[in-house]
Amino acid sequence: MSEFEDGGFEEDAARPGPQEENIRPRSLDDFIGHEDLRANLKVYIQAARERGQALDHTLFHGNPGLGKTTLAQIIATEMGANFVSTSGPVLERSGDLAAILTNLGRNDVLFVDEIHRLPIAVEEVLYPAMEDFKLDLVIGQGPGARTVKIDLEPFTLVGATTRIGLLSSPLRDRFGVSLRLEFYSPEELARIVTRSARIMDMPVTQDGALEIGRRSRGTPRIANRLLRRVRDFCLVQGKDTLGAEEAAHALARMDVDDAGLDQMDRKLISVIIEHYGGGPVGLKTLAVACSEEVRTIEDIYEPYLIQCGFLKRTHRGRMATAKAYRHMNMLG
Ligand code: ADP
Repeated sequence: MSEFEDGGFEEDAARPGPQEENIRPRSLDDFIGHEDLRANLKVYIQAARERGQALDHTLFHGNPGLGKTTLAQIIATEMGANFVSTSGPVLERSGDLAAILTNLGRNDVLFVDEIHRLPIAVEEVLYPAMEDFKLDLVIGQGPGARTVKIDLEPFTLVGATTRIGLLSSPLRDRFGVSLRLEFYSPEELARIVTRSARIMDMPVTQDGALEIGRRSRGTPRIANRLLRRVRDFCLVQGKDTLGAEEAAHALARMDVDDAGLDQMDRKLISVIIEHYGGGPVGLKTLAVACSEEVRTIEDIYEPYLIQCGFLKRTHRGRMATAKAYRHMNMLG
């Protein structure tokens, strides 16, 4: 993190470790997949640069590990600006945000992860800052209190959220650019695995990369994580090249099945089927039954299970689909 200022991240299992920094793409050309989003972003960045202005405030939304932080850092690099990073839950008081804002240089990028978790009082400080690059500071208390306006340097706020629905509409409306990151295809993930393997100096075959890509739940961060573990198996077993067989063997040992589901995914499905007759079952009940947090199920596990058609969300709760019964070899 040495080259970036860091406003501090909350401890979070979904956050990348230091090793991930080496394989993080540094430019839009290195960023794999999402061709349309990339092409548009390139235009917005080039236009802002030609005007000599900060890029419009940009919001990225999508599941964890799909590249929101990476894109925010790329924007800063491509704009030739500093990257300052913080997150919604660590900005507890409006003063925390004011301190960061007043330290920003011209056209800098301020990245706020989990922006849907900003306290409302802090969010209100952000409105005039985003709109007019001004800070309204209240000095003193009671009848003697007065407001002082402080000019800020023009900056770009890049927000990231896994839950766009939880963002207040005044905040959402202040982003000039809003981009959604979808899950990646197995082929795109295979390209990501190949690129990361090259950086790690690990020879990988196309089939090997695809085997990992297929089982990475549509998520680059998971693809990179699985690659590292498969590489461990290869090293210990004296294999020089990571092929499909090596990948399949290692992934089976890690309990990642053919569809890329891990133990927790399968536990979720089997709890719904075995304990609740296939559902519907409420999310809170499910979380207790699986000894997992509601937020983790909602943010990490459920979106992929729904996307693959294993789980259905209904107004009465979650249901296992026929495909889930087949996958688990259970009778419906
Ligand atoms: P998010 O902020 O959405 O949780 P990150 O930006 O931290 O996700 O991405 C997780 C990791 O996945 C990064 O370290 C990066 O190495 C990798 N990654 C994400 N998107 C891509 C991509 N499109 N191409 C290559 N690698 C990617």
